[in-house]
Amino acid sequence: MSWEIRPQLDQLRAEGLWRELRVMDSPQGPLLEHEGKSFVNFSSNDYLGLASCDVLKAALQDGAARYGAGSGASRLVCGSLRPHAELEAALADFKGTEGALTFSSGFAVPMGTLPALLGPGDTVLLDKLSHACLVDAARLSGATLRVFPHNHLEKLERLLQTAKGRVLIVTESIFSMDGDAAPLREMVALKERYGAWLLLDEAHAVGVLGPQGRGLAAELGLEGRIELQMGTLSKALGLSGGYLAASHAVVDLLINRARSFIYTTAPPPAVAHAALTALEMVRGEEGERRRKLLRAHVENVQTKVGLGNTGFQSAILPLILGDENAAMAASAALRSAGLMVPAIRYPTVARGRARLRLTFSAAHLPEQVERLMEALKVLNLLHPAEAACH
Ligand SMILES: *Cc1c(COP(=O)(O)O)cnc(C)c1O
Repeated sequence: MSWEIRPQLDQLRAEGLWRELRVMDSPQGPLLEHEGKSFVNFSSNDYLGLASCDVLKAALQDGAARYGAGSGASRLVCGSLRPHAELEAALADFKGTEGALTFSSGFAVPMGTLPALLGPGDTVLLDKLSHACLVDAARLSGATLRVFPHNHLEKLERLLQTAKGRVLIVTESIFSMDGDAAPLREMVALKERYGAWLLLDEAHAVGVLGPQGRGLAAELGLEGRIELQMGTLSKALGLSGGYLAASHAVVDLLINRARSFIYTTAPPPAVAHAALTALEMVRGEEGERRRKLLRAHVENVQTKVGLGNTGFQSAILPLILGDENAAMAASAALRSAGLMVPAIRYPTVARGRARLRLTFSAAHLPEQVERLMEALKVLNLLHPAEAACH
């Protein structure tokens, strides 16, 4: 085998799958600066606009002043700093579980959790549209991996009938690239009937849905019935890091067995300290106010895209174009109009399912959203072959 990298890159370009980094000259927010131009940003997961808010910036500074810049080592090695413990207690309270454990990213949560809980002889039943970290974690665990079609309860039930060992269903509550919801009530009923466990990834629901922004499980009153509830501090909470909320027993097992928790330096204590503030904001009046703004943007856009009264489900709206190069061209045309909207392509979504992924934030101004709608109209993108129809 040769180590020629160039042909691989050429092929990516030819298939419309090339990715590159664009360096911004501004903080994350509704407006981005890039090469002397300003863009309205419809690409971020900062749903409540907290990533650049003054309160969180001040909380980070305060955390650094009190606890220092770095964590020194793994929490098991040189002592677990106070803000990490405080944050975990607050997260458990938020999610209605006995305990919670934080990780350095959302990605690291299942990578540590699944291999700690499952092995060969066990079974993972995974929704087809699950995030890469859930897929990789399932593979790493060594358990038998069975994938069911997106939100397909009948197929899931058939898989449950023959699954061996410890059986874990894995799904997202709000899907990251489609913005639709899992049929959670039915799934919880199913897993209880078959004695399986459920890992629910609420990355895109926390802060956005449910009472106090506690997510879809809380909205449906199912929190007490879901064994493993993961989420991230990096989306609506505006910071960085991930968590698993679960029983004391599961948390203790992870502290002993989750390699992505044990063998990595703890996140900066200032981030945990600031996350406590972010959580208070999300749960409180400020969160409520921001969720209202977000919801108004999404409902306005849903109407204009012709989705009618589908109701508010998430801050994510995919406009599915299919062809990879068409999605790239649409994204480039919007960029020329001063709008940052990413083209999402394989392998993030299936081949031939390329799309524009619009995300909204409480920090957007109504006129910025109007500008997006105008541009979509001019570019004839308002009614693609398939808008998000759920
Ligand atoms: C973003 C995301 C993650 C990873 O979270 P990070 O904190 O960004 O590492 C996990 N699951 C889903 C569904 C996500 O969208």
